[in-house]
Amino acid sequence: MGIPISVHVSFFLLVALVISANSGTAGMGWINATIWIVSVFACVTIHELAHSITARAKGARVRSIVLLPIGGISRIENMPERWIDEFWVAITGPLASIGLGVVAAASALATGEHLLPVDLISGALLPRLAWVNLALAAFNLLPAFPLDGGRVLRAALERRHDVETATRLAARVGRVLAVALAAVGFFWDVWLILIAIFIFMAATQEQASTSLHVRLTGHQVRQLMRSPVEALDASQRLGSLTTYWTGFQVVTSDGRYVGLAEGTDLMSGDADALVGDFTDREAPVLDLNEDIGHSALDHLVESGYPLLAVVDQGVPVGVLLLEDIARWLSSSGPVGPSGRPY
Ligand SMILES: [Zn+2]
Repeated sequence: MGIPISVHVSFFLLVALVISANSGTAGMGWINATIWIVSVFACVTIHELAHSITARAKGARVRSIVLLPIGGISRIENMPERWIDEFWVAITGPLASIGLGVVAAASALATGEHLLPVDLISGALLPRLAWVNLALAAFNLLPAFPLDGGRVLRAALERRHDVETATRLAARVGRVLAVALAAVGFFWDVWLILIAIFIFMAATQEQASTSLHVRLTGHQVRQLMRSPVEALDASQRLGSLTTYWTGFQVVTSDGRYVGLAEGTDLMSGDADALVGDFTDREAPVLDLNEDIGHSALDHLVESGYPLLAVVDQGVPVGVLLLEDIARWLSSSGPVGPSGRPY
């Protein structure tokens, strides 16, 4: 379906751990352990695909799905802003898990396996898969960011409130839940405390990120970019440079955009080397009319560069710096719940 699925390198650590933990048990232990891990993560992948396919149907762009030992992450860009779309994107993952759980349970019963008592360690494969999928759905439906339930809750709150207020309320519920989870963990299982800390931080971060994006939405790249700015010729030698900025736009001799070069790279290079050799031709570029809150900020942060070139019809027209966005944010004052400065 054109969605790249990648496996994080730490995932293999989990596979090695599970296999080594099972190697002692009679003969086939490690084969069963491998089948188990692969099956569970096939289910996690289907859960993430459900989110991704729904998001794409609602007009978002799915960059990739990454599988980590703790679960999967769908990287989605340009998320729809209508609450009903957000709701469906969030809920389809847990719905897929419930569906998989029911299918696994039905198959288990059809082949004469028993679902009870619950045995996730040494039981038969199908009953274990049934319970794992149902547990995955239940856990993800907890109303706390970054879990799906937190997004479902926010979408529901957006029916009555603006997105910032809805996020603030959902984040508050998430933090309360995290504290409760930590309290339970204190008496029961220390893992819960770790998950609680994770949820608490994610809730706070989600709130900050949403507020940032909301404040920047409606502002175009052309409003905050620096222009005109110096551009370097790709065929220029490093020895001829006299000033060094954080980053440079690099152009051909007739002024067409080539890529981005960082000041520190140019400073450390050989005097005879060409600017073009230190140019990242793959660096993303921004559009003059691009909305900063909607996409430009994300492109900047994800690029890893402190600035990106703004290119209009193949010609560089300015640069947008993270620093300038930060300065603008701090000078324009805090924004109230209604989105207006107060
Ligand atoms: Zn999910």
